[in-house]
Amino acid sequence: MKGKKVLFLDRDGVIVIEDQIDSYERIIYIPHVFEALRRIRRESDFSLVMVSNQDGVGTPAFPYKDYLKCQDRILSTLRGEDIWFDDINVDFSLPEDNCPTRKPGTGMLEEYKGDEYDMASSFMVGDRLTDMMLAKAMGCRGILLNGEVEVPPELADTVALQCASWLDILSFLIPDATNMAHRTAHLERRTNETDISIDLDLDGSGMGEIISGIGFFDHMLSQIVRHSRFDMNGSVKGDAEVDEHHSVEDLAITLGSAILEALGEKRGIERYGYEVLTMDDVVATVALDFSGRPDFIYDVNFKREYIGTFPTEMVRHFFKSFSDSARMNIYISVTDGNSHHQAEAVFKAFARALRKAVRRIPGSNEISSTKGVL
Ligand SMILES: [Mg+2]
Repeated sequence: MKGKKVLFLDRDGVIVIEDQIDSYERIIYIPHVFEALRRIRRESDFSLVMVSNQDGVGTPAFPYKDYLKCQDRILSTLRGEDIWFDDINVDFSLPEDNCPTRKPGTGMLEEYKGDEYDMASSFMVGDRLTDMMLAKAMGCRGILLNGEVEVPPELADTVALQCASWLDILSFLIPDATNMAHRTAHLERRTNETDISIDLDLDGSGMGEIISGIGFFDHMLSQIVRHSRFDMNGSVKGDAEVDEHHSVEDLAITLGSAILEALGEKRGIERYGYEVLTMDDVVATVALDFSGRPDFIYDVNFKREYIGTFPTEMVRHFFKSFSDSARMNIYISVTDGNSHHQAEAVFKAFARALRKAVRRIPGSNEISSTKGVL
C-alpha cells in the first residue's frame, strides 16, 4: 500500500505575509489562501503539515507569548474556515545557531522519511529557496510561491511549480471540474425505419437542437436540451408519415445510449437526480437513478389523446425506451390538468433531474455504489 501524501506548508510568506508576527496587526493573510487550503483539505488526500522557522522566539526581541498569541490566532482563524493541520513543526533558533531543525534542515521532519509516507507524491509549499532545499532533502517536490526569485540549476528538478498566486497552486494540485475533459458521445443508428445521429456533450450549456420533424415532439426535445444543459445536436430521418412510433422510440434509444456512453464508468457522478416542477396548473415529479438496472414507473393520465398531432401515449413510450437504453431507473408522475402542460412539465423535470444525476462531484473519482460498479 502506498504511503500518505503530505503537503508541507511554510507559514510566513505562504499563509500570512513574511514578517516577525508578534502582534495581531501584523497578521495579514496571503490572498486566496483560505479558498485554496479549504479545497485542498476537502478534495484531496494530502496531510497538511506546517513547517516554519520563527527566528529567535523566546528572546527579548521576540517574546514567546507574543509568538504564541499570534500563532493561536492564525490557527483558530484557519480552523474556522475548515482548515486544520495534521502536524505543526516550528523552529525557534537563529540562523547562526546552525540547528538541524531549522529549515532547510530536516530535523523536525524525520518521521516523514519512513514508509508510512509517500514523499515522491508530496510537496513543500514555500516562498524561499530554503523551502525548496528542504523539499529536495525530503525527497518531495517544491512549490515556490514567489514569482521573483530565480531557481538555481541544482533545484530545477525539485521545483514542480513556481507561481505568484494560491489559485495557481490550487489548480496545480486539484484540477478543477471545469477544466476536466468534457464527457461526449457521437452515435448513429440506422434501421429500416429510421436514420438517427446524435452529438452529445454532458458538460455543455444547453446549446443545439434535435429535429425529428414531429412538431410537438421537437418542442419537448428542445426542453430536454435547455433544461439538462447538455449540448445536443441531432437529426432523425424516419417514417413519421407512417407513424411517429419509430422515430420517437429510436431517438429515445439513441439518446439513452449516447448518455450511457458519455458517462463511461460513471465515476464521480451524483448518480441520482430528482426534480419537482410546476407549470401552471400541474406539478410533475421525476426521480431517476443511473443504476445500470432499467426500471420504469409512470403515473401520468392525459385527458387528451393527442397534443397537436403528437399522440400522448408516445410520451410514455419515449421514457420507457430511454430507461431501457440508458439502463436507468426512471420514476415519473404528474398531477391531472392541461395535457400540454403535463407533458411539458414532465420533459422539463426529466431534463433537470438528468442534469443533477450526471453532475460531477468535485474531487471525486468514486463509483457511487457499494458494489463498485453501476
Ligand atoms: Mg517563508
